[in-house]
Amino acid sequence: MTERSAIEAGSSEGRDARCGAKLRGGGLCSRPPAAGKRRCRRHGGIPGFGARAGNRNALKHGAFTGQALAERRRIAAFIRECRQTMEGMESG
Ligand SMILES: [Zn+2]
Repeated sequence: MTERSAIEAGSSEGRDARCGAKLRGGGLCSRPPAAGKRRCRRHGGIPGFGARAGNRNALKHGAFTGQALAERRRIAAFIRECRQTMEGMESG
């Protein structure tokens, strides 16, 4: 029921409108990509195939998750601020 609207919403993405997979003959696939995918259904664009969004199968230690990176950025900014404050104290 909601599948039709989802397909239409996915097709409105401003991507290349071609699948572009290499064909055995040497050309490129010119079929339109599947909804929300970069490849057509024949070339891996089957909806629901592959890992689900948010899957953590490849997560080893969490050191590169967006959360960890954001935290590290925040700490680095804080250290920078501390250094600047100390430099100001030394010169002044
Ligand atoms: Zn294709």
